[in-house]
Amino acid sequence: MEGLLTEKQRLWREQVAKFAQHQVFPEVEAMEQGQFPRALLAEMGRKGFLGIPIPATYQGLGADFTTYIIAIHELSKVSATIGVIVSVHTSVVTMPILAFGTNQQKTSYVPLLASGQKLGAFCLTEPTAGSDASSILLRAERADEYYVLNGTKIFITSGGEADLYLVFAVTDPASTKKNISAFIVEEDTPGFTIGKDEKKMGLHGSKTVTLHFDGVRIPKEQLLGEEGEGFHIAMSSLNAGRIGIAAQSLGIAEAAFNETVTYFKRNPAGLESTIRLGDMATKWEAAKLLVYQAASYKQANRPVTKEASMAKLFASKTAVEISTEAIHLLGMAGYTNRYNVERYFRDAKICEIYEGTSEIQRLVICKQLI
Ligand SMILES: Cc1cc2nc3c(=O)[nH]c(=O)nc-3n(C[C@H](O)[C@H](O)[C@H](O)COP(=O)(O)OP(=O)(O)OC[C@H]3O[C@@H](n4cnc5c(N)ncnc54)[C@H](O)[C@@H]3O)c2cc1C
Repeated sequence: MEGLLTEKQRLWREQVAKFAQHQVFPEVEAMEQGQFPRALLAEMGRKGFLGIPIPATYQGLGADFTTYIIAIHELSKVSATIGVIVSVHTSVVTMPILAFGTNQQKTSYVPLLASGQKLGAFCLTEPTAGSDASSILLRAERADEYYVLNGTKIFITSGGEADLYLVFAVTDPASTKKNISAFIVEEDTPGFTIGKDEKKMGLHGSKTVTLHFDGVRIPKEQLLGEEGEGFHIAMSSLNAGRIGIAAQSLGIAEAAFNETVTYFKRNPAGLESTIRLGDMATKWEAAKLLVYQAASYKQANRPVTKEASMAKLFASKTAVEISTEAIHLLGMAGYTNRYNVERYFRDAKICEIYEGTSEIQRLVICKQLI
């Protein structure tokens, strides 16, 4: 892995790791109690963490995609909550606005997002549309200079805390193809309200909420890309998103592995237990190679759909396996909150579900192969 990074990226990794230890770790307990890390995110915004791969002209750090993935990886070693908030905000909100936005949209929103003055949320899932995202029902009807949005989104990360919502809606129900469009919705738009806040097994510091759209009037200038381009925007954004979640998984896996090694150093165990570290280390290294390969493809503007899905599929499975094994090897201590492994275990599972379940990643990979 060291050989995969440039000197500059290695230094950046150390810098992020230090930030995570000194600034993020002290907030972990409050996040575990359900507190959204608002002050920490503001500080991260000031330091450039919320716009790492965004050009400096838009108030980003102007770094490459791998540098961004290093940050998600390192931050997630300490807090998977921070990992997902940063990944969603950057990969599937700021980057698509930069890629598909008009000049007006880019200059209005990207600097505010990249500097952390505004937080973004990505709104695709609905009560009847999870894995099959193309079956969304939220309607956007054109009325003069506006679109009027009616419907519901569920399980939206950072919902209620975010300032900008990238919302996918049906603009042409008569068409079976190209009927979805993307809209930028500001949090204070009349008719837009926050609903249920889900109680989750992990990621306690992140919000996961229902959003209601009741006659929400959006100026037509808030349409992102062309009418009918929404599904393409969502899917292409998810390529970057999945590499982000793969890096989040990698962080959780590495943290669980490191904690197990530390425990064994203090509490020597029998050979039968100790050699299981060999499997854990091998899986984690393999996951790392897939994640950083996908990041390098994305950075080089190469097609990355298959590689992003492979990285997410394998890294999320690795996070679940390693965190499960960590609890098992620590025995009763692992099942308590005296160690972090139980948190890693609770945080790992979602990586196999959001931004496409593992079955969906397999389907995506198959489609690319055949
Ligand atoms: C904590 C959390 C945060 C989230 N954040 C966001 C967010 O910010 N924005 C957003 O839009 N959504 C978000 N989601 C929603 C998430 O993306 C969906 O949960 C996910 O896409 C799966 O959809 P589903 O839950 O409806 O499962 P379903 O689609 O109902 O799937 C149930 C099971 O069936 C399997 N399955 C489904 N279809 C197939 C198939 N064709 N072939 C084989 N197996 C299949 C699935 O793999 C899964 O095992 C979040 C969810 C959670 C839990």
